[in-house]
Amino acid sequence: MAKKSVFICQGCGYESPKWQGKCPDCGNWNSFIEEETNSLRSVIKSKKTKKNTPLKLSEIQTTKKDRILTQIEELDRVFGGGIVKASLTLIGGAPGIGKSTITLQMASYLAPNYKVLYISAEESASQLKMRAQRLGINSENIYILIENRFEVIAETLNDIKPDIVIVDSVQTIYLEEIKSTPGSITQLREITFKFMNYSKRYNFTTIMIGHITKDGAIAGPKVLEHMVDTVLYFEGDKNGYLRVLRSIKNRFGATNEIGIFEMMSKGLKEVKNPSLLFVSLGKEKTPGSALIPIMEGTRPIMIEVQALIIKTEYQIPKRTIVGFDQKRISMLLAILDKYLHLKFATSDVFVNIVGGLKVDETAVDLGVMAALISNFLDVALPSSVAFIGEVGLNGEVRGVTFIENRVKELEKLGIKEVVIAQNNLKPLENLKMAIKITTLSQITDLMRFINLS
Ligand SMILES: [Zn+2]
Repeated sequence: MAKKSVFICQGCGYESPKWQGKCPDCGNWNSFIEEETNSLRSVIKSKKTKKNTPLKLSEIQTTKKDRILTQIEELDRVFGGGIVKASLTLIGGAPGIGKSTITLQMASYLAPNYKVLYISAEESASQLKMRAQRLGINSENIYILIENRFEVIAETLNDIKPDIVIVDSVQTIYLEEIKSTPGSITQLREITFKFMNYSKRYNFTTIMIGHITKDGAIAGPKVLEHMVDTVLYFEGDKNGYLRVLRSIKNRFGATNEIGIFEMMSKGLKEVKNPSLLFVSLGKEKTPGSALIPIMEGTRPIMIEVQALIIKTEYQIPKRTIVGFDQKRISMLLAILDKYLHLKFATSDVFVNIVGGLKVDETAVDLGVMAALISNFLDVALPSSVAFIGEVGLNGEVRGVTFIENRVKELEKLGIKEVVIAQNNLKPLENLKMAIKITTLSQITDLMRFINLS
């Protein structure tokens, strides 16, 4: 095959015959690197394509995919109910967040029933052994291979015939026949393609670790995310104890599912009842704090939002928003100004989620506004009331999706009252629940509720 040299953007995989300062596709600067490529596309093209005859829809058999269970609920959920056999998963995350820890723990959960090959090019065998000892892992069924040349790995795959292959990390493995450096687009593409092919040939399931760059993408490319079946991101503050495993792409299940873990000295521990992690129930609330049940994938989780408003000492008042979309909060402040005449123009506003989660849904509007009003008026909200609702630009309170799941979670946690939109009441009417339901239709009603309670 003819080898040719091209310039490839390391951010998005855009190819160009010439070097360019700025990538016309993703806009990155200085991202082009010259790579010698017997391009993957030409490999695919050169294969003879077998002609498929069309089938009637009614004739097509659905195959229920075989799944591998780790028996760790938080993990199995993120994979959409277990890992699909012979699939390829990419786990991304910032350095030091605990990707190697979670994959090694996964290896130990799977080892009783499956043969696991752990390929590391990042650590030495003794480093890995020490890590395993710290985590209390010792299994006859886990094989460790310290290697970064794919050609050697391929021989091992043939010798050992593992059920599960863990690659730590995809950026460090390379094919000798390709001149590009490890971690370059061409290498990443070819390595991923090789693992895909081999997993079909030997029927093993692959989990690859990928490092994330400072701008939050898996180092190297989106290209990789398109190729694999499942993409998970491992998030959290390196210095905190909370970790979230989030599915970004899943060919075999819902995306945006999350698994929540705590980083302990002996490794990651699943958090089975996350609501209790993010709120302190039963405590008297201070002015500016409100409870909101949010949805993470298909699961409701209760969070506590806190707002603080103080007179500004600056020319332009500060807006410090953690965990929410800044623009959304600005909009809510404008609505409070317009319909409730609460003026924030000379105040600094801080809004924060306790526990460090990030929320991206409009169902939190009502709760955030309740927290803002509460702090503004210096009136604490009742300690056992939660808020659910979207608020529109005309000050109207709107219903949200999954209202039943959210309210059921509140009921489970023993919350006494929930404030929702009037038009969200219908699906709740026939549920037998102890929780008191209060409905609103305008944001002015929220003000009344806070003043009365
Ligand atoms: Zn690019």
